[in-house]
Amino acid sequence: MKGFTIAIDGPVAAGKGTIAPIIAKKLNGIYLDTGAMYRCVALHSLLNKVDLDNSKEVEKALSEVDIDVTQDKFFLNGKDVTHEIRTKEIDLLVPKVAGITKVREVLISQQRKIAEKTTDRGLAFVAEGRDIATKVIPNADLKIFLTADLKVRAERRLKQKEEKNKSLDFEKILESVINRDKEDMQINKTLVTNPGEYGYFILDNSYLSEEETINKIIEEMKKRGLYDKN
Ligand code: C5P
Repeated sequence: MKGFTIAIDGPVAAGKGTIAPIIAKKLNGIYLDTGAMYRCVALHSLLNKVDLDNSKEVEKALSEVDIDVTQDKFFLNGKDVTHEIRTKEIDLLVPKVAGITKVREVLISQQRKIAEKTTDRGLAFVAEGRDIATKVIPNADLKIFLTADLKVRAERRLKQKEEKNKSLDFEKILESVINRDKEDMQINKTLVTNPGEYGYFILDNSYLSEEETINKIIEEMKKRGLYDKN
């Protein structure tokens, strides 16, 4: 029997990276963080000084990029870059890379292949990003738009950074979240602003705990016959 697919999209720091792997685990399925794939291309471009305004250079770079994904690790041309793709430098570069049509075509095609391979093995595929339900797997069995208030997202981001011993000021984080939203929704237009029109189950988790958020998703999976445990 073929597995099913769950797409989780939403703005930065809405909790996708926390929630999606938990859902995949509950389903004994495979989790894919598509943002990390864009980050890998950004890292490769940075290391190889690729001129992102030169389409020939970008195409050449794409042909040299081999991304390998395990459940919690990312390999770029065989090297573990799990931590390297999370630096501030990459945070700043990745929207530019993600805005290049050719980059999106190549990565979306790879993401679809991973989805197909996973479901062909009879496993559930849970992917998170910005355009999973609109571009990567538009026929996903469940499409979730996970979101939260701007200030709540900025506070979460601040907490994550503090856990990594980086003290940063709230206003700066808030500004970077606002910029990331602008890039995703207005510049790159990878994240829709009208999720209700795309068949998403919209889940605002501003005032929900992690457990409550998971439970809401489980309820939706049950409604669609995708989850039968208690
Ligand atoms: O989710 P994360 O913040 O790691 O994503 C990194 C970058 O990749 C974001 O800036 C986002 O704009 C881009 N991205 C994208 N499409 C996706 C996932 C991420 O354009 N499906």
